[in-house]
Amino acid sequence: MTTPDSIPAQDFTLNDGLTIKNAHIHLNPGVDELYNDAIRLGEGVKAATGPLTVRTNKTGRSPKDRFIVEDAETKENVWWEGFNVPIGASVFDNLLEKMLAYAEGKELFVQQVYAGTDPAHRIACQMITEMAYHSLFIHNMFVRPSAEERKNFQAEWTVLNIPSFKADPAVDGTRTDTFILVNFGKKMIIAGGTQYAGENKKGIFGVLNYLLPAKGVMPMHCSANVGEDGDVALFFGLSGTGKTTLSADPSRKLIGDDEHGWTDTGVFNFEGGCYAKVINLNAEAEPAIYQTTRNYGTVLENVVLDASGTPDLNDGSLTENTRSAYPIDQIANIQPGSVGGIPKNVVFLTADAFGVLPPLSRLTPEQMMYQFISGFTAKIPGTEQGVTEPTPTFSTCFGAPFMPRHPGEYARLLAQKVKESGAKVWLVNTGWTGGKYGEGHRMSIKHTRALINAALSGELDDVEFKRDPFFHLDIPTQVPGVPSEVLNPRDAWADKDAYDETARKLARMFRENFRRFESGVDQAVTDSMPNPDA
Ligand code: ATP
Ligand code: MN
Repeated sequence: MTTPDSIPAQDFTLNDGLTIKNAHIHLNPGVDELYNDAIRLGEGVKAATGPLTVRTNKTGRSPKDRFIVEDAETKENVWWEGFNVPIGASVFDNLLEKMLAYAEGKELFVQQVYAGTDPAHRIACQMITEMAYHSLFIHNMFVRPSAEERKNFQAEWTVLNIPSFKADPAVDGTRTDTFILVNFGKKMIIAGGTQYAGENKKGIFGVLNYLLPAKGVMPMHCSANVGEDGDVALFFGLSGTGKTTLSADPSRKLIGDDEHGWTDTGVFNFEGGCYAKVINLNAEAEPAIYQTTRNYGTVLENVVLDASGTPDLNDGSLTENTRSAYPIDQIANIQPGSVGGIPKNVVFLTADAFGVLPPLSRLTPEQMMYQFISGFTAKIPGTEQGVTEPTPTFSTCFGAPFMPRHPGEYARLLAQKVKESGAKVWLVNTGWTGGKYGEGHRMSIKHTRALINAALSGELDDVEFKRDPFFHLDIPTQVPGVPSEVLNPRDAWADKDAYDETARKLARMFRENFRRFESGVDQAVTDSMPNPDA
């Protein structure tokens, strides 16, 4: 590896007296430096328009390769189901030792940053990466300390991410050569095998999701923005449902696009940047996010450049999950400090590829619990021949892979916050209408925005709602700026029998998924389940 002569080798001390010997450390490198290093190290190129454009060996997260070290505390408090899989402390210690030896003499990048904009709840993180582009990603995505804060920076958590270090599953006790191991006792995350930068942010997100409920703070996989009169709205949803897209609304100030905490006084962003999907991004529909794909300082992941070196956002040949990672101040209309007051509205986003959920409906407190624990969205059919059906995804709390505790714990905390605040709760389908995927079409962003803005502004307070028989959702009968045939999904389908059949099918999937939670919730919550026999 080429190592810059300007950086002398030194032993770098992590927590617990651990050291990386003779490392060439870039401490808190800035944007210009990281561009140079990333390009020198062959990680990527500068696009003609400015962004650093990189390719990665993995183009998405590896949730099945993430493990949590089991100790006396996590044994009790982690919900050991689904994505939360325990691993022994000795597996962690052994891999860490190997990584430290592997890193000896190497060039490494260290960013000292915060996760959390609220000083009372943030954690100070030391992010040690092999890749310069990861360091730029972290610089963009985490909360950058002020010069004053940097002087006395004391890291609490350490992340060591070395993609070129691969585990040997047979010897090391991992699932594959890729691993992300979270150790709450040591306050460390170690990762190897994957170049996907999103692991850096989602690893720390999982840490906050574990720690904050113990302080009465609700950690959330949601975006947030604030209206002119200070009203805060949250947008929960799984990947691809529109958190980033819809929170960047020209008429509202952006607080953050992915991860927030809800305290006794309001909400705060965990991050200092945004991570937007950019496949087929339309400059007219999403001007603010489009602009970030042209800016210096942005990291573009797996976006293909055309012959002139310009990003081609319509090219999904490397992956459909192309991404732009940029500091939040690249968006013009942002809320200073990335904090806001107590939310007035909570929106659950779902991209229903079955095309049967209403574009907008209002939820009762019981329905909110039900939908939050269900965490539904749907994937569009893959490219596999003959597969034409959408696949449902049920992911508790709209983020199962990042939630270490029992979903009931998060659901109760959210229900308590919503009750205390009197916030209104909405379910918005940003997915298909007029038919399932392949027959209908995706809801227009314009209509979705109009629906959401009507809900947030209070315009729907005096409108009549009708309850749909399958999902028991209350649907407004009129919304300004939206044609009425769009409001009720059954009206949008030409073939009503096909609608009923598809709605019944999805209702059965909802019930089937919820079976494992039924015993843990109130009767009123199970009573609000969808009804396939309507
Ligand atoms: P992640 O958790 O992976 O960051 P996300 O919830 O932030 O996902 P977005 O990045 O906002 O999701 O992705 C939504 C995608 O769907 C965008 O590509 C957007 O252009 C597209 N889209 C199409 N129609 C709509 C709609 N009606 N509402 C929202 N997004 C839409
Ligand atoms: Mn997003």
